[in-house]
Amino acid sequence: MREVGVKAERFALNEVRRGLIFSPSGEVLELERGRKEALVLDREAFDKHLAELAVEEGVELWLRTRCVDVRDTKKPTILLTGRKKGEVGTRVLAGADGPTSLVARKSGMMGRRRFIRCVQAEVKTEVEPDTVEVYLGGPSIGLFGWVVPAGEVARIGMGTLRGDPGEGLRSLLKSLSPRLRGEPKKLSFGLIPYDPPRHLVKDSVLLVGDAACQVKPLTGGGIYLGLSCALKASEALSHSLEREDPASLKLYSKEVRRTFGREFMLGRKLRELMSVLSDGELDALVKCLNEPRLREEILKKADFDHHSSLLEVILSNLPLLLTSLGPGALTRMALKGMIGLDLRGI
Ligand SMILES: Cc1cc2nc3c(=O)[nH]c(=O)nc-3n(C[C@H](O)[C@H](O)[C@H](O)COP(=O)(O)OP(=O)(O)OC[C@H]3O[C@@H](n4cnc5c(N)ncnc54)[C@H](O)[C@@H]3O)c2cc1C
Repeated sequence: MREVGVKAERFALNEVRRGLIFSPSGEVLELERGRKEALVLDREAFDKHLAELAVEEGVELWLRTRCVDVRDTKKPTILLTGRKKGEVGTRVLAGADGPTSLVARKSGMMGRRRFIRCVQAEVKTEVEPDTVEVYLGGPSIGLFGWVVPAGEVARIGMGTLRGDPGEGLRSLLKSLSPRLRGEPKKLSFGLIPYDPPRHLVKDSVLLVGDAACQVKPLTGGGIYLGLSCALKASEALSHSLEREDPASLKLYSKEVRRTFGREFMLGRKLRELMSVLSDGELDALVKCLNEPRLREEILKKADFDHHSSLLEVILSNLPLLLTSLGPGALTRMALKGMIGLDLRGI
């Protein structure tokens, strides 16, 4: 937030200082550095604040209006319906329209995108107000469940690449039932985009935020990355408009790749690693990361918003981890291209 110049503290419901990562059998990795790591936001109030800031800067906001078509990526024209109707011609078009982005689809930048299906409920729960809990494996099938303190309630959710996240959430709520102090409310479903598009810019159209898959591959968190990339997009858009040069929008792709390319790539590797491990192997992984030396290393290097450092810790301790995980995991990781195996000469 500091990076993009947004004061988010007043929208914070909680401050996160500690993370607990639970393996399928209940082995716990506790991560805490005695400092504030993240904020849990009142998202509605925060989004409203961002919209107000935009209006103060001269943005015209058309509420209750949807874009239903995009024609021509060189001189984009959008077709609107709702309170504001009709065609609007634009010099440049930024698609910030979420994971299933119409702008991405209509301008041929959607690619073959997969989605993490998420379901979340708000429940009065006995939680530490500064602690986020993450549940690996089990019913989450390839991703994770979470318990995040949010003021009076906790946000309890589940995300999966395959299968029904609702089933996973029911099972997580059941396992948490001794700590629940009310009925689940505000049930919400959502999609987190998983596969980044090959291109962020086509002619005079660019994508940003979830529309461009700018989310942390490990956790699906997109607020930090989306805002940071939006800043880069706005610089490229201003540049392009001032110089009447749509080609300079490409600077945005370049900047995003330069700043986050490695982070996206390593984050995806880490996610792939988690998804090839069985419940037993996830238990072994958490147990191994709990070794005092490794835990120290993680606490020293890992960063809430940049997960590549966590993969670096894992890779630099690969022999130890592979001994714990066993040969089955080694083979599956190699087949997924997680680790290089030179098969020449075999
Ligand atoms: C259950 C769940 C929990 C999450 N928790 C976290 C978290 O704890 N931390 C975190 O960092 N991230 C989290 N995320 C991800 C985060 O919500 C997204 O990364 C973020 O909201 C992306 O912002 P965005 O503006 O790009 O897209 P969105 O928030 O999806 O906003 C897109 C906007 O475009 C509008 N729109 C869409 N189509 C059209 C159209 N055709 N015409 C006009 N308007 C349109 C939509 O109405 C919406 O207002 C979570 C996601 C889910 C699903």
